[in-house]
Amino acid sequence: MPARKRLNSFGFVFRPMKRTGKQVWESLIVGKPNTVLYPYHKLNLPPTYRGKHTLDFKKCIGCANCVQICPNDCMWMEKIEDPELGKIERPGIDMGRCLFCGLCVEVCPTVALHETVEFELASSDRGKIKFSAKELRDDSYADKVVEERQKRAVPVLDLGKCTGCEKCAGECPEMCIAMMPVESVGKLKPEIALPKCTACEKCVVACPEKALTMKDMYESYFEMPEPKFILKNCTGCNACAKACPADAIYMMEMPGTERILKDGKKSKPKKRAVFVLEKCVGCGKCFRACKFQSIEMPGVKK
Ligand code: SF4
Ligand code: SF4
Repeated sequence: MPARKRLNSFGFVFRPMKRTGKQVWESLIVGKPNTVLYPYHKLNLPPTYRGKHTLDFKKCIGCANCVQICPNDCMWMEKIEDPELGKIERPGIDMGRCLFCGLCVEVCPTVALHETVEFELASSDRGKIKFSAKELRDDSYADKVVEERQKRAVPVLDLGKCTGCEKCAGECPEMCIAMMPVESVGKLKPEIALPKCTACEKCVVACPEKALTMKDMYESYFEMPEPKFILKNCTGCNACAKACPADAIYMMEMPGTERILKDGKKSKPKKRAVFVLEKCVGCGKCFRACKFQSIEMPGVKK
């Protein structure tokens, strides 16, 4: 067995043993308990915890995507007469049936629906854990989530160092890295902030080069239509970004990978990693997988 593999299997055994040893030391010698005396003490839950839902009435467009995708049929649309928003439809949830899969949150095109860290939902009356749309309403929560997401560490790719080995794309659990051929130096390439996209297709109509399509969907399990760029047609004219009413498209400058061959012809552009940062959860797997130091994540340990 090669030395590296032997080391890896040693790591499989040694690391858990080290962790167990640390916990034994902390509980027996230092006196730090391994459990929490609930309900007197409570754990600090991570922001990604899937608890009770909350809904931003202003961001929700009443598309009912969440209701349709729910595998347990625990959501419904309610007709509401709102003094500010007029006649609207918003979803309610029966938390007693919810399996906290998070599909409704993921499918929401306007990022209006979220799961909070509130988990104390137990009640002897099932009716009390059925939340109407008005009971889910919190018009400030979604903005706080966006603010928090903007603070997290995201990978920064040095395209000049990237060799296109695809290691990072293979490691990413959120599938936010695509391998694409990159052509001319300084060419502007459009990027889409998917959570902002409402799939209105205005970018597809505005593109003079037919470099955008809604039919070739990004492969996701809920099959939401999303604009997809055909990079070889794109001239970087910025028409799509100007046409987008949700400000979901921005332009990025790309270093190219073309070379001039001996016969004066251009070589084929090579593939490089392109990140869809809006889906990134900041886990650092790509950063650790890259052997060419082309990805940096300030504040994250290798
Ligand atoms: S988390 Fe899953 S089960 Fe619960 S309401 Fe959303 S889609 Fe339905
Ligand atoms: S998916 Fe989002 S925008 Fe559509 S109804 Fe549900 S909460 Fe509202």
